[in-house]
Amino acid sequence: MTNVPTPRAMRRPLDGRHRQMFIGGRWVDAASGERFETRNPATGEIIATVPRAGKDDVDRAVAAARAAFEGPWSRFNPHERQKLLLRIAELFERHWEEICLSDTTDMGLPIVRARANANRVLGMLRFYAGMATAIHGHTMENSLPGDIVSYTRKEPVGVVGAIIPWNAPTAASVWKIGPALATGCTVVLKPSEEAPLTPLLIAELMAEAGVPDGVVNVVTGTGLEAGAPLAEHMGVDKIVFTGSTATGQSIVRASAGNLKRVSLELGGKSPVIVCADADLERAVPVAAMSVFANSGQICIAGSRLFVERSIHDEFVERLAAYARGLRIGNGINPETEIGPLISPRQLDRVEGYLRAGSEEGARLVAGGARLVEGALAAGNFVAPTVFAGVSDGMRIAREEIFGPVISALPFDTLDEVVRRANDTPYGLAAGVFTRDLSTAHQLSRRLRAGSVWVNTYHAIDPAVPFGGYKMSGYGREGGAEQLDEYLNTKGVFMRVD
Ligand code: NAD
Repeated sequence: MTNVPTPRAMRRPLDGRHRQMFIGGRWVDAASGERFETRNPATGEIIATVPRAGKDDVDRAVAAARAAFEGPWSRFNPHERQKLLLRIAELFERHWEEICLSDTTDMGLPIVRARANANRVLGMLRFYAGMATAIHGHTMENSLPGDIVSYTRKEPVGVVGAIIPWNAPTAASVWKIGPALATGCTVVLKPSEEAPLTPLLIAELMAEAGVPDGVVNVVTGTGLEAGAPLAEHMGVDKIVFTGSTATGQSIVRASAGNLKRVSLELGGKSPVIVCADADLERAVPVAAMSVFANSGQICIAGSRLFVERSIHDEFVERLAAYARGLRIGNGINPETEIGPLISPRQLDRVEGYLRAGSEEGARLVAGGARLVEGALAAGNFVAPTVFAGVSDGMRIAREEIFGPVISALPFDTLDEVVRRANDTPYGLAAGVFTRDLSTAHQLSRRLRAGSVWVNTYHAIDPAVPFGGYKMSGYGREGGAEQLDEYLNTKGVFMRVD
């Protein structure tokens, strides 16, 4: 067993022991008694077993969430929900090192990156705390005969099923539970089977902060055995989902039974456009890390890099040098910049794209292979990879890889690059590097994506809505728009004469 440093506050060492899941305020096993293992992707070691939940367990969790929604939780007023969210933020801050260690060990995120996420995640909780007391309807003038007052009320949508992927367990959990608590909903969270441990820790901290029993439930299990029953459950009022586009489509189909509301944060194949007038000192590292951060396992990865032809070769060389200089290894080491991929399956998938790139005629300029020297052989490590000479039709330029692979494509004019950048079924994000104000505004307007970053990337703030166009999904996380996703609007007419 690798010697993992344990923070003093860590209540459960990640040493292969069993962890139960959290339903109705109690720690429980699956009704079937079945379990599955979760491994450290940097070492291949089993770090815990968790319950393998099925339909019965989902039923139990939804019933607990319903009882809480209709029971004591419905009497929490906005101010009380706000205080609760602030207590959660405080407790998270105190246990932040434990949360980071859990993410690093269960899904491979370098500890330095996990630590750096503190402001974002704690900021989200504090943002939702603020929003809890800012929910309001409107009064409207009407044209009805008689003296009739009309107004709207915003009411919590009810029981929310939250299904999340493995690439950012802390942020994804908070982005779904936070707005539910702010609006007065209850939640059944289904983490990814690849990284279930941090969401369990989060449930524990929330209970400690005073979240009433049944308000937050965490059901561990596979997509088909636990995710699908949640998506089709007649007792669930809304599904909020982050994951692949294919799973998102099956969730929409599953939602039809009771026409539950759905919001979807799905995949991407985001363009990054570097114009010849860009500040290259800034653009090279930002464009590189737009993909290499989290080993490319980021939905917003800027994996199609369009570079204006006059600077293309120089830019690609500098990018390749940057990629070769990155420190790769077990994320527990504070020097590590790039950790492993989540699983051997994901490794196979990424290696398939590396082969496809070469077979389709792209030119490999950095990386391009699995890393197997020394301790790296036990984990799922791939070298940060840059392909040049990529054409728009190649698989590496069209499909989401979810690995550390950049495809560089030259362009000549703005009209051309807009057309090519938008020529994708996805529309999650886009990046632009230019010093020209007119180019920056034109591209921000013309790119069909839910987020556009100019001279930066990865900028995400709880106050600013985030989400997709096209097959990257619908609905928004962050901003006032997100709260609306968890609220129903009721129109009230009252005759007062
Ligand atoms: P995935 O779709 O395979 O799994 C996501 C979650 O859905 C997991 O919890 C899984 O168990 C569950 N699931 C699988 N099949 C299901 C089904 N039939 N019914 C209900 N639930 C089911 O995605 P993944 O491989 O875990 O994550 C990678 C994908 O997530 C990528 O496509 C990435 O772009 C996307 N992603 C998007 C965002 C965003 O904000 N847009 C953020 C992170 C990841």
